[in-house]
Amino acid sequence: MSSADTPTAPPSDPTASAEAAAPGGLKRAEAVARAALLDVESYDLRLDLASDTETFGSVTTVRFTSRGGTTFVDLKPASLRSVHLDGHPVDVDLLRRGRLPLETTEGPHELVVDAVMAFRNDGEGLHRSVDPADGRHYVYGMSFMDAAPSVFACFDQPDLKAPYTLHVTAPEDWVVIGNAPATNPEPGVWELEASQPLSTYFVTLVAGPYHLVRDQHDGIPLGLSARASLAADLDADAEELLTMTKQCFDEFHRLFGIRYPFGDYHQAFVPEFNAGAMENPGCVTFRDQLVFSSKVTRGQRIQRATTVAHEMAHQWFGNITTPLWWDDLWLNESFAEYMGNRVTADVTEYTDAWVYNSFSRRQWGLLADQRPSTHPVAGNGEEDATAALQNFDGISYAKGSSILKQLNATMGDEVFLAGAVDHFRSHFFGNATMHDLFASWERAGAGDLSDFTRGWLVTAGPDRIVLDRAAGALVRTPPPGSPADRSHTFRVATARATDPAGGTAGTGPWALTRVTTRGGRTAYEPEAGAAVVLDPYDDTWAVVEPDAETLAQLPALLPRTDDALLRAGVWNGVRSGYHHAAVAPAAVVDLVEAWLPTEDSDAAIAFTVPWLLRDVLPLTTDGDDAAARVHEAGLAGALAAPAGSTLQLAAFQAAAATAPADRLEHWIAGEGLPDGVEVDDELRWRLLVRLAALGATDRSALDRWLAQEPTTRTRVEHARAVASLPEAAAKEFAWERFTGAVPATNYELEAAGLGLWRPGQEHLTEPYVDRYLQALPTIAEVHQGWVLGQVVTAFFPLTSLRDETVAALHAAADAPGLDATVRRRVVDATDDLEHRLAVARAFGA
Ligand SMILES: [Zn+2]
Repeated sequence: MSSADTPTAPPSDPTASAEAAAPGGLKRAEAVARAALLDVESYDLRLDLASDTETFGSVTTVRFTSRGGTTFVDLKPASLRSVHLDGHPVDVDLLRRGRLPLETTEGPHELVVDAVMAFRNDGEGLHRSVDPADGRHYVYGMSFMDAAPSVFACFDQPDLKAPYTLHVTAPEDWVVIGNAPATNPEPGVWELEASQPLSTYFVTLVAGPYHLVRDQHDGIPLGLSARASLAADLDADAEELLTMTKQCFDEFHRLFGIRYPFGDYHQAFVPEFNAGAMENPGCVTFRDQLVFSSKVTRGQRIQRATTVAHEMAHQWFGNITTPLWWDDLWLNESFAEYMGNRVTADVTEYTDAWVYNSFSRRQWGLLADQRPSTHPVAGNGEEDATAALQNFDGISYAKGSSILKQLNATMGDEVFLAGAVDHFRSHFFGNATMHDLFASWERAGAGDLSDFTRGWLVTAGPDRIVLDRAAGALVRTPPPGSPADRSHTFRVATARATDPAGGTAGTGPWALTRVTTRGGRTAYEPEAGAAVVLDPYDDTWAVVEPDAETLAQLPALLPRTDDALLRAGVWNGVRSGYHHAAVAPAAVVDLVEAWLPTEDSDAAIAFTVPWLLRDVLPLTTDGDDAAARVHEAGLAGALAAPAGSTLQLAAFQAAAATAPADRLEHWIAGEGLPDGVEVDDELRWRLLVRLAALGATDRSALDRWLAQEPTTRTRVEHARAVASLPEAAAKEFAWERFTGAVPATNYELEAAGLGLWRPGQEHLTEPYVDRYLQALPTIAEVHQGWVLGQVVTAFFPLTSLRDETVAALHAAADAPGLDATVRRRVVDATDDLEHRLAVARAFGA
């Protein structure tokens, strides 16, 4: 799975299952008992998607062998027609909370479940949606993590793998794609070959009037698909997508020496997908926002490229060898994240993938690791899917990837890869644990890894490392209560703003040295008056911050820093310092003003400016003036960049987000734009959202814009713009979606929530603090699964900078009986709010 992050919203990776939160979710002990009792031989599924738009027929035949005893099958039907075990009827009235008990004798059995299942519209199970552009219907399956039983009857746990054969009836103008190659013997009838052994959470089906692009490479049939209304956009990007897919296949084959074993490789871009993507063997599903309809930055293309490579890495790590239980899913994600970045940087046109990664992902992981809810990367002992999903965060992805990169540096690439290959070969089409992988690494020659595991994988929280100039030392502070005495080896960059030149080639004014810290204090004396940037290349995992002397020189030094990865390191330090109220909002704005017009990586701008807009500008003492300075810096960048370049686009997006109303109106009308900037749909809605937040447009004007181009995307931006208007009715518009009074898609819900809380609109939004608090205990009855977490975060009162709000949120989170997903999201967001309050207090906003 790949996270759903976009430049405007921090990621919150993989999906959940709607019923995961409900009592009755499979517990680890139950899975162990069922796996000890059963071997599953095969599934045969007959799905009828043609008869109805609300429900579908689902007939499952599962063949398995039992050692004799009582067990149960998982299913969540709309209605259950019949169940037969070895030809004898099973009492369907015994179905409780998605489980039907089965009495089995020793030996082989055949279970036939004839059910009617409901299509879902929350991105899980079999999702069905209508394209607002043309009214056509689309379906896709998302069985992760435990949504499979709302599609077919199954023994739903990752370690009961079996091959699947599907027979699908669909409307005649649909195409059907799944985990194995499909034939279409007669109109509306699709037969899918038996797949390789799959965990239940991998089973998918993509069905509808999808537009297809086909190709092949090295004997692997390749496919791409998207909604018909996106056909031209998919065609325009097909070559880029297919080229990098081929490059990545070659590289993974070279690295692992094991061929991709799942037959076809289809990449389906599907509507309203919650995650970034899901690695279903043979048929990966992606959110179709990754088919670009408007001009996008290179950063967005890198993001898509690393997602493509991430899902391909999963074909080996996760799909050939699958975690035995959910508690090792982090390893899936850490490995895919690391390999996805690495392979993208090594073999595709996006050689700067690690720069993108540093700008877009590192803070996500560091912040998650500093929250009260932090947890070790590994060994969290999750008892069920819901608990595991809570920990699917920046720690599983960004920190885990960083730790694996360190591990690779420690043991060497040859041993690292040999251990991974041993792991795949030892558990081919099977399941394994973290301990199995570490045993493989030790067999491959990595030596004893127990110190590494103790320091980095089973101990939560990052160390904080700062320079104490007076004492001539680097001071390491471990997280509270941490027993890990970690040593850190990393590069240090030093420079003086007053030096005209110097430094190491390629880094501009900076000189690089390498240090290793041991214990609490390590002697380190920089040259007097030098700016010092610790760990600018993400060599270790630690929070580092610039000291005052360094910070003061950054506006002069950063524009002269040629190395984009080093600039990312500078920004990560500044952001960490800001998070701890050690860097003032005004200092950040000074740095942006000096840096933005000179930055030549659009990813740097596209992933820094949203943080600036959300976390910094609202806390400046002179908000309007600060916004005006950022606006001018963005505009200067847009004018300095090559006309029509993606760099110009990123700089202009910064200018758009901070523009005054009169300028926005001109730009929307196509007047006064920098040469090379064209207002397409995406940019128009950015301008409209800003105009709405300023109160310089109204609902009817936004409705007219939507009516001109009513697509999935414009509907989302319309919801964001309407909710952003400084009007009571606009806030109510958002709120009705939160409470479920007005139905909305997952993307529209999130956009409405983010629009509701606008700085400067507290007179309108303050009543919603209480309404939010009052809604929390029952919100899990309205929204479920992935969407629930997203909605609780999006509607969180992040602009209510009051101690009373923080106290009330703590009380709400502590209330007994609160849904676990809701609690986790409130706790995390409250921690963010407290950090904002600390900044406001320290710097007088
Ligand atoms: Zn993943």
